[in-house]
Amino acid sequence: MKRHLQRRRQQILETSRRADDELDGLRSAERDPEFEEGAQNEHAQYTLAALTDVHRREIAAIDAAFDRIETGEYGACLDCEREIDPKRLHALPYALRCADCATRHERGMVTETAGPSL
Ligand SMILES: [Zn+2]
Repeated sequence: MKRHLQRRRQQILETSRRADDELDGLRSAERDPEFEEGAQNEHAQYTLAALTDVHRREIAAIDAAFDRIETGEYGACLDCEREIDPKRLHALPYALRCADCATRHERGMVTETAGPSL
């Protein structure tokens, strides 16, 4: 499970790095006076920045999962402390809550920024 998480973390870091590179590319392209796709470029920058934000959260969640492996709390729901469904953990290895609590948690924070359901 730890290896699985590490792999996922690595994947996210790589995707994230690629998105960062692309973002850098777009930003330097913008400084080019001959670059004419300003609006489209701005949209792409926004999309990539949002993606980077999602990646940051995912990394944070994975790090939290590592901590929980260390303390032996991994796999237990953060809210109700019941065991998280293994199928859910397989699909979302850094899930911190069982499906029920995650739904409740999300409903409770609809006003906050959206992110991956944990
Ligand atoms: Zn729960």
